[in-house]
Amino acid sequence: MKPERYDVVIVGTGVAGLYAGLCLPENLRVLMITKDEVENSDSYLAQGGISTLKAPDDFDDYFEDTMRAGHYENNTDSVRIMIESSRQIINELIQFGVEFDKEEDGTLAYTREAAHSTFRILHHDDLTGKEIMIKLIENVKKRQNIEVRKFTTMMDLLEKENVCYGIVARDPEGKIYSVHAQSVILATGGIGGLFQNSTNFRHISGDSFGIALSHGIEMENLNYIQIHPTTLYSKQEGRKFLISESVRGEGAVLLNEDHRRFVNELLPRDTVTNEIKLEMERQGTDHVYLTMPHMTREQVEKRFPNIFKRCLEEGYDLSKDYVPVTPAQHYIMGGIKTTVNGETSMKNLYAVGETACNGVHGANRLASNSLLESLVFAKRAAHVIKETFGQITEIQAEADLSQYEDYNKWKQNNRQLVMDEIKRRDEKFYAKWCNNEVKCR
Ligand SMILES: Cc1cc2nc3c(=O)[nH]c(=O)nc-3n(C[C@H](O)[C@H](O)[C@H](O)COP(=O)(O)OP(=O)(O)OC[C@H]3O[C@@H](n4cnc5c(N)ncnc54)[C@H](O)[C@@H]3O)c2cc1C
Repeated sequence: MKPERYDVVIVGTGVAGLYAGLCLPENLRVLMITKDEVENSDSYLAQGGISTLKAPDDFDDYFEDTMRAGHYENNTDSVRIMIESSRQIINELIQFGVEFDKEEDGTLAYTREAAHSTFRILHHDDLTGKEIMIKLIENVKKRQNIEVRKFTTMMDLLEKENVCYGIVARDPEGKIYSVHAQSVILATGGIGGLFQNSTNFRHISGDSFGIALSHGIEMENLNYIQIHPTTLYSKQEGRKFLISESVRGEGAVLLNEDHRRFVNELLPRDTVTNEIKLEMERQGTDHVYLTMPHMTREQVEKRFPNIFKRCLEEGYDLSKDYVPVTPAQHYIMGGIKTTVNGETSMKNLYAVGETACNGVHGANRLASNSLLESLVFAKRAAHVIKETFGQITEIQAEADLSQYEDYNKWKQNNRQLVMDEIKRRDEKFYAKWCNNEVKCR
């Protein structure tokens, strides 16, 4: 079968992939693929909000909060670029139709989350990711130059001598085909699907990382993985429901089995996670409790409608009950090493969003920085592609497609590659959080 040909292939339809597509010029033919429904991305699940530079005089504090949360291992250029670009990105989102919550006087309403020294997070109820995704998807659908294919999985890159010429894809019926492109953008999100307990969609399983490792593409900090302190405790299989940091930002407290407080809830999330893990070990339990007695039912329901509803479905009234919570894998700070323009170590290959590691988060992500980061650097990658487009004339790589027929074997191989790499970089982390057999989707 003859390979298909596009100017740009974007793998993933979370905020990073969609925004990259919208920032590319309309004269380029773009193919966007996603492994599942277009909406089914971690971006859609984002509850807390999106950080932004509230006023120019907040720059130093925002910079410091991001660096402190990242244990000062952040790339300072990336942090500066993210903060400087934030206002522009918010304005663009509003132009795309995104609505953020407002104060009674019509100005934007800001909230606060753990480790932010001030209120600088914009939100749409507690469904910020959904609001942004719906509006970006609507805009992508209007673009004549973008074709979106769902239930289509990237299985490999077409590569020769460290130049990327496209991808190998698998359609919903299991047919394997290759797609040639001048540029490929990886926007496949994180690795939650590889963990037994994760807040991520199960199909978001680090595919780009396994593929990158097998091609010798440079990776960075693959062991920098965030475990979220508070997911709703449940014995059921599948994605764990996250109880956003902003709940603690608005005063919820953590209690142990004896209903005693044991941690300052506003410390950075890695510190809170470790304290919860220690407390659970000390008390021999697999959860602690979250409660917010200072807010009325009406206030909780108004501020956190989605979280309130979900807890209620599980039998807990967040405004008065002790809600059992437990840590779960949530986010990866490391990933495919990129420049501040999303360029990877392979020519014509870009990585953006959670898949990429441009160092902006350092060793630990500050809450609500990832939607922003995904948008800022996706736009920059699109800009570079626009500026350099047309430099490749001949596609020079092809693959033997029969090697991809065994999908389960491919998934297991990928998982093994990624987990081995995490273990190689940090045996202690691996032993504590990764050493569970899971089925990948
Ligand atoms: C529950 C939850 C709450 C969060 N809350 C916030 C928040 O309040 N604020 C904030 O800033 N961040 C938050 N985050 C983090 C943030 O949502 C993500 O880091 C960010 O949205 C990642 O966007 P992305 O576009 O890189 O990836 P994603 O949105 O994860 O999208 C990945 C895409 O890649 C596709 N894909 C994966 N593998 C393949 C493959 N092999 N072939 C084809 N397609 C593939 C998927 O189908 C999907 O479309 C939250 C995350 C979770 C899970």
